Amino acid sequence: NKDIYSFEEGSLDLKPLLGGKGASLGEMTTLGLPVPPGMTVTTEACNLYYENNEKLTEELKEGIKEYLIELEEKTGKNFGDNDSPLLLSIRSGATISMPGMMDTILNLGLNDQAVEGFAKETNDERFAYDCYRRFIQMFGNVVLKIEGYKFGRGLDELKEEVGAENDLALTTEDLKELVSRYKEIIKDEAGIDFPQDPMEQLITAVEAVFGSWNNKRAIIYRDAHEIDHSLGTAVNIQTMVFGNMGDGSGTGVVFTRNPSTGENKLYGEYLLNAQGEDVVAGIRTPQSIQTLKEQLPEVFDQLVEVTETLEEHYKDMQDIEFTIENGQLYLLQTRTGKRTAKAAIKIAADMVAEGLIEIDEALLRVEPKHIEKVLHRQIDPEVETEVIAKGLPASPGAASGEVVFSADEAEELKEKGKNVLLVSLETTPEDIHGVIAAEGVLTTRGGMTSHAAVVARGMGKSCVCGCEGINIDFEVEEFVVGDTTVKKGDNLTINGGTGEVMVGSVKMTEPKLSEECQQILNWADEYRDLGVRANADNGPDAQKAYEFGTEGIGLCRTEHMFMAPDRVPIVQKLILSESDAEKEEALTKLEPMQRQDFEEIFTALKGKPVTVRLLDPPLHEFLPDLTELVKEVTELQQSDANEELKEKQELLRKVKDMNESNPMLGFRGCRLGIMIPEIYEMQVSAIFKAAIKLVKEGKEVEPEIMLPLITHVNEFKTLRTRVEKVADQLLEEAGLDLEYKIGTMIELPRACMTADQIAEEADFFSFGTNDLTQTTFGFSRDDAESKFLHYYVEKELLPENPFISLDADGVGRLVNLATDSGREVNPDLKVGICGEHGGEPKSIALCHEYGLNYVSCSPYRVPVARLAAAQAKI
Ligand code: ADP
Ligand code: MG
Ligand code: MG
Repeated sequence: NKDIYSFEEGSLDLKPLLGGKGASLGEMTTLGLPVPPGMTVTTEACNLYYENNEKLTEELKEGIKEYLIELEEKTGKNFGDNDSPLLLSIRSGATISMPGMMDTILNLGLNDQAVEGFAKETNDERFAYDCYRRFIQMFGNVVLKIEGYKFGRGLDELKEEVGAENDLALTTEDLKELVSRYKEIIKDEAGIDFPQDPMEQLITAVEAVFGSWNNKRAIIYRDAHEIDHSLGTAVNIQTMVFGNMGDGSGTGVVFTRNPSTGENKLYGEYLLNAQGEDVVAGIRTPQSIQTLKEQLPEVFDQLVEVTETLEEHYKDMQDIEFTIENGQLYLLQTRTGKRTAKAAIKIAADMVAEGLIEIDEALLRVEPKHIEKVLHRQIDPEVETEVIAKGLPASPGAASGEVVFSADEAEELKEKGKNVLLVSLETTPEDIHGVIAAEGVLTTRGGMTSHAAVVARGMGKSCVCGCEGINIDFEVEEFVVGDTTVKKGDNLTINGGTGEVMVGSVKMTEPKLSEECQQILNWADEYRDLGVRANADNGPDAQKAYEFGTEGIGLCRTEHMFMAPDRVPIVQKLILSESDAEKEEALTKLEPMQRQDFEEIFTALKGKPVTVRLLDPPLHEFLPDLTELVKEVTELQQSDANEELKEKQELLRKVKDMNESNPMLGFRGCRLGIMIPEIYEMQVSAIFKAAIKLVKEGKEVEPEIMLPLITHVNEFKTLRTRVEKVADQLLEEAGLDLEYKIGTMIELPRACMTADQIAEEADFFSFGTNDLTQTTFGFSRDDAESKFLHYYVEKELLPENPFISLDADGVGRLVNLATDSGREVNPDLKVGICGEHGGEPKSIALCHEYGLNYVSCSPYRVPVARLAAAQAKI
């Protein structure tokens, strides 16, 4: 490769060599757009510079000089000439854009004599000195490493002395004075006179710009964006054009579409009589690009035309830098514009409608996280916020409300019409009502897959968890973080997308699935092979999922149906029952309640399949906490409430009795179903009674019964027979012939290894990848994250948290193997996954690869999964 390319030789496909800016300058030159001529010294030359002790090699210097001659011919000016000097800009430009991270020098080539010649040539002495003072400042800052504020201070002092309101009010004499003060600063700080030899200026400037690849902010930026530190930057040496030649000149930035909303309308800012970074530096307040239409109508028309050409060419929204010199428009840069989630979606959809891009391209332009972002309330990007603490961004979206410290209180206040934010150490399933009532949840413990996080994500509620900086004092009902104290009832805002916590109610914007978003998702549906279902265990969630385009319920957990405050006592009676009669009584009460839930869910799904998982968690989860109970008993012993004491003591005995050292591997799932048949029988009966009722009303229902935690085919066989007995009897009584399926959750390694045996008996598999990850790794999901998993991920012992992104090498292989061996014996076997991975794009891609039928995820992730599934196919 050559080390230097003229812009005429440059093009987009040389981007790795020329950097983004150089490649775009080349591309625009080839397109015939007005670009000031110049050359690009390559990123490879940058590495030569580093190898050569941070100096340009003689060869590079010669090369630059050769190309300079070309530039002089093109412009009719001479570099180093005192009467008509060729002035240059020296600009950095990496392959991956790092806006503002590296350095630029403008007006290079001026010295004490050339500035006079330049003044005569342009017939504008003030302008010439304005260029000169800018050059000295930038050179001093970039090449001689003098801190920018020293020049800034010099400028401010002078303005103050002469009473100039802004830089435009400075006279020629003032600017001359500024030049001499700047030279003083250089002498004081760098110990040298400002270099007068243009070639020396040029060589040292190119070296400094190469060197800016390794300045501190550039390194930090690369770290943050995972950009390779060895890539290097290119340097562009370009003829200057001048935006500071009076009111027919100016400089600015435009986006071809609104980067915040996506609206197809030119968006941007400019300043007349200004140069370089004045627009972004806040020297004067820039004007909206629309006013240029009045100020310089011809230039505006030209700008519109050029931006259209560029968008047509790049087929994406562009972010363009331009300068106007005496009514003539020049383009200095174009790049693909950064945009918000909302804008990304709108632009992609619009561009298909405009015939600019194809549908598959549009589907790739929108990121799954864009969909997720627009589905939640967000902090108004226009407002400034003060962050008091930061936790894990557990469930996106923003929420504000009055702080409460207990779930009960959250519920009470919600009923009174207040918005509350639940703040606690961590949440347990018993706090679910508090989570439902609250706008969002903030916990000081627990990780991204902690209960609070999973539940909040499931409900599309904002959640920040593991916010360790916060100290809660439950006695006085307040928390302290740093030197801020927040009391119960104070307003607080959390941003679940960033983990930030802010005092007060920050202004929000409401979510909705825009027309464009619907359009993108409909296209995604046409592309994807993988089905998308939702995890939902109540009517409203099922309804939400339906609205978001689910094709069924992949996991309806039934334990939450036992959890409602009015049901827990009955469930407890059931668990503690001594006689069959007591048991019977409790079950008779529970059944109609659950039937009601199923009716709602079936109705919401309008005939799409609903997979109901029979009870899974260990029973003691429905009983009071052991330590709490001990405390209560001790208290009662000191009073004379004898009856109550006896009751509680009895309860305590039971709770102790049921206590297990490894509840996750304990008496739960199908084991429970096998040992206490009545519970599953009650559930199956509730499901089928609900189904029968709806079918009789003329509605469609497609129930699927799922047995959890099967590890041996015999467990499945036993339970299948029992389920069928109850279901078939009810159907027979009703005189109905309703099709239903019975399948299993595959969530234990042994089940995966014996999938062929199980598939002979089962109609479907649903991989419970939360438990499967837990049992395959041997990591307890509840404890691993805070204890060591965090460290593992940080130190790259594991590439990723396997509870968030499916572990392809281990868990994924089990899924793949079980799917294949299951289908071999049962070609009709339907296979899906439920569990948190079902909504995570990388895991979804794996599921596509394994040929699963569907993924199932929380309702709010359904749209995300629809897109991710399409992307996996493309
Ligand atoms: P950054 O990468 O930080 O945006 P640039 O190299 O794009 O740095 O330069 C910053 C600004 O300097 C440009 O937006 C433009 O206003 C000005 N500039 C750069 N090159 C020239 C030039 N040849 N003529 C006039 N102005 C220029
Ligand atoms: Mg730029
Ligand atoms: Mg499980």
